[in-house]
Amino acid sequence: MSNETTCFCKHCNKTVTFHVEPVSHLKQFGLTVVTLGLWLPMWIGMAMRPTKLCNECNEPLWSDG
Ligand SMILES: [Zn+2]
Repeated sequence: MSNETTCFCKHCNKTVTFHVEPVSHLKQFGLTVVTLGLWLPMWIGMAMRPTKLCNECNEPLWSDG
């Protein structure tokens, strides 16, 4: 298992180290209630793929190529 701790940041335009934003389930629950359940797929998506944040600019990193 490789323990990848770097990722390419489009904002910094270089490879950076990152940290993972813990999902706030209370906040996601609130959003799900407010949107009458429309937010639920987003919540599941976030729980499955935690957001990586660049350590330099704090912007989310999306490894979508
Ligand atoms: Zn960055």
